[in-house]
Amino acid sequence: MDPNALADRVIAGGTITPDEALAVLRLPDEATYSLVAAAGRVRRHFHGNTMKVNYLVSLKSGKCPEDCFYCSQRLGSEADVLKYTWLSHDDALAAANAGIAAGAGRVCLVASGRGPSNRDVDRVGEIIRDLKREHPDVEVCACLGILKEGQAERLAGCGADAYNHNLNTAESHYDEICTTHDYADRRETVQHAREHGLSACSGLIAGMGETDEQLVEVAFQLRDLGADSVPVNFLLPFDGTPLAGHAELTPQQCLRILAMIRFVHGPADVRVSAGREQHLRSLQPLSLEICNSLFLGDYLTAEGQAGEQDLRMLADGGYVVRGAEDVPPHELPQVIARRRGAGTPAPANA
Ligand code: SF4
Repeated sequence: MDPNALADRVIAGGTITPDEALAVLRLPDEATYSLVAAAGRVRRHFHGNTMKVNYLVSLKSGKCPEDCFYCSQRLGSEADVLKYTWLSHDDALAAANAGIAAGAGRVCLVASGRGPSNRDVDRVGEIIRDLKREHPDVEVCACLGILKEGQAERLAGCGADAYNHNLNTAESHYDEICTTHDYADRRETVQHAREHGLSACSGLIAGMGETDEQLVEVAFQLRDLGADSVPVNFLLPFDGTPLAGHAELTPQQCLRILAMIRFVHGPADVRVSAGREQHLRSLQPLSLEICNSLFLGDYLTAEGQAGEQDLRMLADGGYVVRGAEDVPPHELPQVIARRRGAGTPAPANA
């Protein structure tokens, strides 16, 4: 399997097969940097060196009646995370504005729970209206769970650009990660949002005990759904959740998963999402050569690296943030004279 031949085909508007996607995941570590370069050609063909920065606002956190095994907000979760009910309208706007001021081109308004009531949709709709009035160029994505009839239209009518509802894993693995709703519920919500003019944002979480075949399965299921935007999360195994302690990914595997998603999804926005700091570690910048989007700063219940550090990482890599082209000046970190190790009584830095 030649990654450059796959890249040529995707750039020409073609597709790769599930067997080829599986072969990408199974490349050896020593072939992974060449794979990143090939996936990077696809990324640059469709998105140049631009980066789309998204910012998460958790409108309502914890206390969910659903039991998604990976989630720190699930029913019975003992994870030590923030739990609060709906933010006030003004607090929600202030949180969103903090991300926009830092350069976010899309704000994601997220609430825990199975799905919103009509009153919840009205509440979020008012926030969307005000955000769009103040920042017409900023995209707003709502993520409120499983939608009922009529709710996607209401959100679209208030100015929402997109709706996020992740498939999270393959249909064949779904029973292993959730028992309170099924795959069809998730798929139907994405379809429902699309049918009513909202851009479909739907992605996955890798590292939940799925097989390589199941990663390929969910990649193609997301493509069949017409996802325009594909967040790729790597499991954050919170203590107090059933998946606590799962640590099955390596940084190189994460890069192969991202490359496989880029090949399967071609021009879509591929977003390196939660878990990038923990799982990619020092290889984080390589993920930007495959993905054209990331979340700035913190996630819903976990802290990310400092937002300034995210922006610096993008600027250092030569990426341009869409909608915020001016790079903030960077001061060289102070040089610190060595006062430890050889020639000193202090322990060596080793
Ligand atoms: S993923 Fe969503 S629906 Fe599932 S437990 Fe977490 S907040 Fe609830």
